[in-house]
Amino acid sequence: MNYHAYYPVDVVNGPGTRATLFVSGCEHQCRGCYNQSTWRTDSGHPFDQAMADQVIADLNDPRIPRRGLSLSGGDPLHPANVAAVTALVARVRAEAPGKDIWAWTGYTLDNLSAEQQALVAQLDVLVDGKYEEAQRDPSLKWRGSSNQVIHILKPQ
Ligand code: SF4
Repeated sequence: MNYHAYYPVDVVNGPGTRATLFVSGCEHQCRGCYNQSTWRTDSGHPFDQAMADQVIADLNDPRIPRRGLSLSGGDPLHPANVAAVTALVARVRAEAPGKDIWAWTGYTLDNLSAEQQALVAQLDVLVDGKYEEAQRDPSLKWRGSSNQVIHILKPQ
């Protein structure tokens, strides 16, 4: 998997202070996408062991307490990303207990592959659905268009 950007401290993508990873690769081609440079799976930089270690270290850094990790993109549920994102989520659960994990996807919760479902089962929150320009609503929190749904998967 490649990633496009990593914000070690972020207060925009999800609740509280977080770390946010923008992965590479998205096949949804939403009209008006804010992040077209992330569409190609080979764009950005390799998400290697050192980067995964950095994410874990940041989540455990007591100097800037983070509530959790946000996974955006691109699409963390792109078939080419599912294995690496699943491995990262497993590491966060094991090595940074107590942190919540949010993810954004252009797929919809009721239409996921078995591999995507297994990953989603490990998340706290999934914000799903393509960005629909005709339903754009800047007043919405943590989503760009009103068709997108914030699914609370585990008690907050
Ligand atoms: S799902 Fe997100 S990254 Fe992918 S095309 Fe749509 S808006 Fe862009």
